[in-house]
Amino acid sequence: MRRHTRQREAIVRLLRGTNTHPTADSIYEMVKKEIPNISKGTVYRNLKVLLETGEVSELNIRGTVSRFEAKKEIHSHFRCERCGRVFDIDEPVDQGIDRRVAEKTGFSVSHHQLEFRGLCCECRSESI
Ligand SMILES: [Zn+2]
Ligand SMILES: [Zn+2]
Repeated sequence: MRRHTRQREAIVRLLRGTNTHPTADSIYEMVKKEIPNISKGTVYRNLKVLLETGEVSELNIRGTVSRFEAKKEIHSHFRCERCGRVFDIDEPVDQGIDRRVAEKTGFSVSHHQLEFRGLCCECRSESI
């Protein structure tokens, strides 16, 4: 049990210390440096548990690979169409939209995800 806790803590620590929204595979590569004998399956299982406990959130827009981050305030994302990196956008999220959509449709809305797309600063300067 202790071993499992240690692995889970390593994943959470790693996600808290990065803003790159890594995929499960790159989380595995990073955690492996700290815990060399960890398996990919263990990383995937721990991510699933952390999603359930709410310590980690998942970015999963249709047609893209899931990326993970430590839970923080609700925020939007920007995805670069060239390099694929995902950035946090420091703009207030309109949480009232969930309620308005619920009222309009009668659906029960749990949340929504907003993702901006385009070119990040680095890719933009390369394309000039
Ligand atoms: Zn880019
Ligand atoms: Zn984020």
